Amino acid sequence: MTRLRTTAVHGGRDDLADLGVHAPPIDLSTTYPVPDQAEGGEALQALAEGAARAASPVYSRLHNPTVARFETALAALERTEAAVAFGSGMAAVTAVVQAACVLAGKPHVVAVRPLYGGTDHLLSSGLLGVRTTYVPADRIAEAITPDTGLVVLETPANPTLDLVDITDATTRAGDVPVLVDNTFATPVLQNPALHGATYVLHSGTKYLGGHGDVLGGVVACADEHAGALRQVRIVTGAVLHPLGGYLLHRGLATLPLRVEAAQRTAAELARRLAEHPAVTRVHYPGLTRDPLLGTQLRGPGAMLAFATAEDPTAVVRRLRLVTPAVSLGSVDTLVEHPAALTHRLVPAADRRASGVPDDLLRLSAGLEDVEDIWDDLYGALSNNPPPQPSGACDADYIKSSSSQFHTLAGSH
Ligand code: PLP
Repeated sequence: MTRLRTTAVHGGRDDLADLGVHAPPIDLSTTYPVPDQAEGGEALQALAEGAARAASPVYSRLHNPTVARFETALAALERTEAAVAFGSGMAAVTAVVQAACVLAGKPHVVAVRPLYGGTDHLLSSGLLGVRTTYVPADRIAEAITPDTGLVVLETPANPTLDLVDITDATTRAGDVPVLVDNTFATPVLQNPALHGATYVLHSGTKYLGGHGDVLGGVVACADEHAGALRQVRIVTGAVLHPLGGYLLHRGLATLPLRVEAAQRTAAELARRLAEHPAVTRVHYPGLTRDPLLGTQLRGPGAMLAFATAEDPTAVVRRLRLVTPAVSLGSVDTLVEHPAALTHRLVPAADRRASGVPDDLLRLSAGLEDVEDIWDDLYGALSNNPPPQPSGACDADYIKSSSSQFHTLAGSH
């Protein structure tokens, strides 16, 4: 087993040398010739029963080689036997619920809030035929009944960055499978399967893709659970497009570098925000000495949240550089108001009770220069926005970029 950065670069590329190519090919075929129709039928049968691959993909809803390379690479990073990719993070959550609850005949879910608003809404809506009991992590065992098929949690949680002890939660869950949403931490900072999680879920739309241009989801798990997820994916058609598979696979190569750089920026922003008089609270794992930091979670990450004394939407309106948008994990810094957007569909009382107050803003640190992000945040918080960037002259740009280069080079 290679180290993280090496796995990120080389994962899922074992077949490329034999193909004589350097970049993974994007296989856009929807169907594959099966001259021997009986053999084609056997391949179809194997895939429909959950096999990872067969003699022919037969049809791209059953299997796609470009997507399969991404799955192999992600499984290596998450230290699991397999991974199954989907058309979005929500399609991935849906597939796990369908496999663990609906197919298994156990229509009850136990979940720990806060969760991403979409996941919370999906579990509460009844759409999938399950009912959900929300409990704090230390009450998981009491909430489990004979028809509980799944425990769902996020750590760090969206949007409060609350941490849950995965080992403790999986112990309390006993035989019930546990889904851990690892979107915020990424496999760079946390591997929930090593702490007992059955399903490790990512909205690949975020850090895995990393550039805000691909929607996808993935579940890393043991082979015994991957088969049912593939079966669900085939019949529901919740597949990831091969171009998405290519972009997510490519994103993995730079994932450790992006997360490490954005994390450095988030740590600095969290420290400065905590000292700003207009900020009433900062949520960032690096600010509290949580015992899970350094053990379960290898670094505080690149997400933070903060509350403002004044209306947070007014602060957002004054930003000039930071992108006011949902989503996270992109190259640019993103900020959003969870009560208005990502967590809007969670009933207000439940949202507030789970620690997502109306004065909270969520920030995803990007890869810009930290001083430019801070100038923008400081200006917006102090109601004194800096002048619009005027377009520095070439000489200024060369001077500042070369001094930045020396700083980076010196930091290694
Ligand atoms: N899980 C988390 C933690 C998220 O933040 C999101 C989306 O924001 C999702 C799941 C859903 O992912 P997608 O938007 O790719 O469907």
